Amino acid sequence: MKRFVSMLLFMSVFFTMFATVGQAAEVVPKLFLNGQQLKSDVNPQIINNATVVPVRTVSEGLGYQIVWDNTAKTATVTHGNNVIKLKMNDNVALVNGQMVQMDTTASIIKGTTLVPLRFIGEQFGLNVEWKTTEKEVHMYEQPKEPTDPTAPVESAGMITEVAYSGESTISINYEGVVKANKPLLLDNPKRIVFDFPNTDYSPLLSGQFVNGQFEVNVTDSTYLQGFRYSLFSKTPATARLVILIADNTGYVMTEDLGKFQLKLMPITDVPVDPTLPVDPPVIIDPEKPPVSDDVFDIVIDPGHGGSDPGAKSVLNKWEKEFNLSVALKMKALLNKETKIKAHFTRTGDTYPSLDERVKFAENLKADLFMSIHANSGAAAASGAETYYYRENSKAFAAIIHKHLIAGTKIKDRGLKKEAYKVIKQTTMPAVLIEAGFLSNSVDAKMLFDDAAQNRIAAEMVAGIKEYLKVK
Ligand SMILES: [Zn+2]
Repeated sequence: MKRFVSMLLFMSVFFTMFATVGQAAEVVPKLFLNGQQLKSDVNPQIINNATVVPVRTVSEGLGYQIVWDNTAKTATVTHGNNVIKLKMNDNVALVNGQMVQMDTTASIIKGTTLVPLRFIGEQFGLNVEWKTTEKEVHMYEQPKEPTDPTAPVESAGMITEVAYSGESTISINYEGVVKANKPLLLDNPKRIVFDFPNTDYSPLLSGQFVNGQFEVNVTDSTYLQGFRYSLFSKTPATARLVILIADNTGYVMTEDLGKFQLKLMPITDVPVDPTLPVDPPVIIDPEKPPVSDDVFDIVIDPGHGGSDPGAKSVLNKWEKEFNLSVALKMKALLNKETKIKAHFTRTGDTYPSLDERVKFAENLKADLFMSIHANSGAAAASGAETYYYRENSKAFAAIIHKHLIAGTKIKDRGLKKEAYKVIKQTTMPAVLIEAGFLSNSVDAKMLFDDAAQNRIAAEMVAGIKEYLKVK
């Protein structure tokens, strides 16, 4: 018999969010929706690094409808035209009929149904923030963007190329905003399924489809047997990539500059993420004299980190290591500056999202933003390049680029303009450096050389001081 218990009576919400393992037991987070604290009859708690909150107030506040099917052990959450179906203890949810993997499962604890709210919130376009210090959960309904007919569509992207690039690596080039859902790992045959919501293919690429898809067999890889891609759904457009893999194969997906690289490898080689759950960026206050109005706040953003290692170098070290190492060397130098206060989006092996990095700089009303990266490409490609996007960043970028070439002493690939999120969505002068190619043996050797890193860090600081006219 189906028993529908309407509207939230037994529902609780399971917040997947940032929390520290050690603090897990004693923390009772407070909940806020659009700035207003939500009262609840049951105390929120943290289980398995996720905050579990009673759903009732939250859901009533959000206006989500939840229907519980006791026979099928399924919760159906509806908001507008969107429907999420969650089966108890199953980490695959159905979102508008499509399978989507979740980090946490819905479950019943002491008669209360708990569902992963960060997941639901993200699917329904909710912003969920965890304030570490305050132990507060802040949820916001995203403001409607003012409609500007000339503005590019931010919610959509286009895949322009999917190619096997040798060495068990698939590269996916894209334009616009492209983000994969959590992949599904399926058996018989063993395969990984990536869905890219709100993503289409370029006409050139979809023109090559046969029976709605394009198929590639790979014969020279131990881990990768082939892949195919198709448009899984038309409205909304969802691109799907299916990768056929051998047993005990894992992967690392890195994203950089309009390109995903998916490298298949023995599962034992996949770097484990030591940092989950991830703390949001922390403002590092160097030991500094009291700030005066003349002090510049700058944000240094070591790219990638934590679960996102960036590109792998030919020396088997990861881009995230290089980025952080240079940033920490800059930190040591910047600590000595009295007119500059440096803030870091990360100082350890953590992964703040790109949105969090942008927000971090914006909240600080920082005067400058610098993102540190290293490049990857064909083995022969080498050199350093500096990116800016907004016109207010060009002068800063030009100065930084001059210093980047002086620091790296490698080929000058020039100053470039590209709409990378962290330099586009921030508002202060912002640059992104690509200090060399990890895929090139000469560049990589330099990038992981301690003296070269010291040089790069010193030149970056010199460039910042030159731009800010700080003596
Ligand atoms: Zn990078």
